[in-house]
Amino acid sequence: MAGMFAYESSEVDWCEDNYKHSENVVEYFNTMSSFVFFVVSPIMLYLFHPYARERNLAVHLVWLLMIFVGLFSMYFHMTLSYVGQMLDEISILWVLAIGYALWFPRRHFPFFVKDRTTFSRMVLAITVVTTLSSFIRPTANAYALNCFALHILYSLGLEMRRYAPLTWAARTRRALRLAQASVGLWVLAISCWISDRFGCSVWQKLNFCYLHGIWHILIVVATAYGSTLVAYLDASYEIPHSLPSLQYWPRDDWALGLPYIALRGTAKTRKGC
Ligand SMILES: [Zn+2]
Repeated sequence: MAGMFAYESSEVDWCEDNYKHSENVVEYFNTMSSFVFFVVSPIMLYLFHPYARERNLAVHLVWLLMIFVGLFSMYFHMTLSYVGQMLDEISILWVLAIGYALWFPRRHFPFFVKDRTTFSRMVLAITVVTTLSSFIRPTANAYALNCFALHILYSLGLEMRRYAPLTWAARTRRALRLAQASVGLWVLAISCWISDRFGCSVWQKLNFCYLHGIWHILIVVATAYGSTLVAYLDASYEIPHSLPSLQYWPRDDWALGLPYIALRGTAKTRKGC
């Protein structure tokens, strides 16, 4: 049992040289780059608040859990322990599961599911079973993560196709641009992950073993973009009376910023509806 907590008890080891900068931290840059979770998560909690208040406060669970993903990611790369790897993967699984339960479009629910509460309970049950089985069979988690990610991408593709005939509308262009940025960031992030995993000998020759750390930074920003896009699509179906629009923080005209949903509908206009 204690062996699961031991340094380097995980079967994975990333490209970065071990114990290069500290004798207590196995992968220094991979550990430090996980700080990005603690920078972006509080900002996203703040930016999501008006939408969460209108729609469901459970929305905040996504970025609260992202703080835990950051904590477990730091612990994992600091120790490369088996427990660290499990906690890291399981926390990511729960972020995806909560995103599903909150935002999966109602129209695409399976026929035997009547409302979102039932759907959420079903997702919860599947996630609990996957979490438990990952202790018996660690690869179960990896498979579940990939299935979730691919299905989300597929559903998003279907969802964005509905927008294609409306490209003349400024708000559609904004949504499409955000979709392109989200997918672009995600592809870039995955490329870094794969390249670090399978092309390490090449990167070692170039003396550049930081790709996994860069993946941490890119995937957090991609999650910020992707979650805002999905929440925006949800808001335009579920709370259209609050007139959701896409904006960027800190300034709307900056090329680099974090997206969020601004609600222009006031209490007064809502009463009129
Ligand atoms: Zn990592």
